Amino acid sequence: MYLPAILGGLGITIRHFFMKKPTIQYPEVKRYLGPIFRGHHVLKRDEQGRERCTACGLCAVACPAEAISMVAAERKKGEEALYREEKYAAVYEINMLRCIFCGLCEEACPKQAVYLRHDRMVPVFTERDQVIYGKDRLVEKLDDRYIRNNPDAQATPTEPTLSRSVG
Ligand code: SF4
Repeated sequence: MYLPAILGGLGITIRHFFMKKPTIQYPEVKRYLGPIFRGHHVLKRDEQGRERCTACGLCAVACPAEAISMVAAERKKGEEALYREEKYAAVYEINMLRCIFCGLCEEACPKQAVYLRHDRMVPVFTERDQVIYGKDRLVEKLDDRYIRNNPDAQATPTEPTLSRSVG
């Protein structure tokens, strides 16, 4: 009397054995994320390789998770090749433990300086001190075109950090 149930169960097992697997071998294989995916933040540069962010703070105000911190600074003489406007973010940090990837920072930015990549997730972290992303990991990398046109832009000063606890 158990035979039909056992055969039914075996049938399900065999069917699943030959079905296409829903899992993938990440990170060797990456899933297509789609055009509306919101992932890793980037602080963009302009067409001349200068940082777009003017440290207005609107992204931090818009952020519902209070994940963004920044310290503004005045651009000095000779730094015109590094920063687009007179004010820039000397420190810009995002706490990825707090971030919910809502994209409101991107929407709030009047300079199109911050955006969330559609093709890249924030990597897994195992230590709490890895969750604060500073400018070293957020600012768009200079490509060869910028460096050729603007050799000074490589000399980005060492970034100070905010000293505060992670949480
Ligand atoms: Fe804050 Fe949302 Fe931007 Fe994350 S994506 S930093 S939660 S505004």
